[in-house]
Amino acid sequence: MREVKCQWCGSKGVKKEMLCEAKPTGKYNKNGTEKYIRKYFHDKCYVQYEKDKAFKEKEANEFDELYLYLKDLHRLEGLSKRMIERLQDLRNGTVKYQSQKVKRYKKGVPFRDILDTYKYSEQQLHKARDYKQFESPWHEFAYFLSIIVSNINEVKERNRRLAQQDSIRTSVIKKQIQLQDEIDLEVKRNKNKKDELDISSLL
Ligand SMILES: [Zn+2]
Repeated sequence: MREVKCQWCGSKGVKKEMLCEAKPTGKYNKNGTEKYIRKYFHDKCYVQYEKDKAFKEKEANEFDELYLYLKDLHRLEGLSKRMIERLQDLRNGTVKYQSQKVKRYKKGVPFRDILDTYKYSEQQLHKARDYKQFESPWHEFAYFLSIIVSNINEVKERNRRLAQQDSIRTSVIKKQIQLQDEIDLEVKRNKNKKDELDISSLL
């Protein structure tokens, strides 16, 4: 039986039993049929692969949003490699240990939280720009980012509190609705009883 390699775990499996993801290449065979790239996966591995793909897409979208925001904030055509690296380090949770970078993967602050913190700190950043002269875009970027890093926990805590208040509010409203429903039901029941009585009194 023909075996193919799983694109996720790298080990081989029987071709017939594996999932196949086929993508058209836009190129054509001599006989006119379109060429496909085929990737094979174990069933279980495919689930992992899909999850990973969705995660990466979400990450890319959140990064794009942050990138556009920062381009505007710093009035730049684009961010430099060095700036992007700093953002990636913050996202990944890269730490310096004895002047060596210890790399991790997506263990730091989510891009969404970084963006939230920038927005939350806007006034503070604009003020900093008013009273400080920055030598270069990089200096401004690095200075702003240090403000962001020191504000991140505050923003996280604030978001946590807001979410908590929200869930309390929701549960209070739910309870009120439930109570109202019970009252309505009771009223209806009494009314029905009365109706029954009314009818019986006529009879
Ligand atoms: Zn596999």
